[in-house]
Amino acid sequence: MKIADKHVVTLNYTLTDNDGEVIDQSQDGSFAYLHGAQNIIPGLENELTDKQVGDKFTVKVSPQDGYGERDDSRVEDVPREMFPQDQEIEPGMMFHAQGPNGETITVTVLEANDQTVKIDSNHALAGVELNFDVEVMDIREAQDVEIEHGHVHGPDGHHH
Ligand code: ZN
Repeated sequence: MKIADKHVVTLNYTLTDNDGEVIDQSQDGSFAYLHGAQNIIPGLENELTDKQVGDKFTVKVSPQDGYGERDDSRVEDVPREMFPQDQEIEPGMMFHAQGPNGETITVTVLEANDQTVKIDSNHALAGVELNFDVEVMDIREAQDVEIEHGHVHGPDGHHH
């Protein structure tokens, strides 16, 4: 079986930056995704098409095909009152917020005072070249309900 749309693919992968620093990894078949459903970044998904179980490869993904370029306009000052009043706001803290298309985004606090908080809503990996070392562990047909939901359910199928 070759990887194609509507297949559930299990991978082992190691993700490193250009300095060889490990950003993320998944071993023992703990990572599965639905191919063709934009569950993973395009640069990696495209490379996986037509691969088979046992295939190993490395791919360098540009920010364009990864988490995007850094956008300086996504660093902005927002009123302190947008954050919980009873919580200390400090640089480095991360919050979930709603993005322009209703998606959940993570914002990082850069600076904070009593009136304003400077936040960065760029993805932490925006502007970073990503180096994936990948092994294809398993491929199966997706269940109809997985295709409908656009994501993978566990080995036993999960309930919402
Ligand atoms: Zn589901």
